[in-house]
Amino acid sequence: MQLRKRHRKSKIYTRHCWYCGLGLRKATATRDHQVPICKGGSEANGNIVWSCERCNNQKANLDVGGYRQVLEQRAGKPVVFYGERV
Ligand SMILES: [Zn+2]
Repeated sequence: MQLRKRHRKSKIYTRHCWYCGLGLRKATATRDHQVPICKGGSEANGNIVWSCERCNNQKANLDVGGYRQVLEQRAGKPVVFYGERV
């Protein structure tokens, strides 16, 4: 979030995907519920992060831990999400 000021002049939307860190434009940014509503997640801001369409689709109804497991199985190594690193 410390990059926001520097990018304000450009018209590019400077949010990043919480999962993969992809830069998001307004047209491609989606809101993801970290704990899906169907699993008891809330609409509170603390449960909502920005996500690219690809991650949002892949994550589907998984919570963050479940999505990490899927990615770790695929990658064969530990996965740290972008939002956990910044
Ligand atoms: Zn992503």
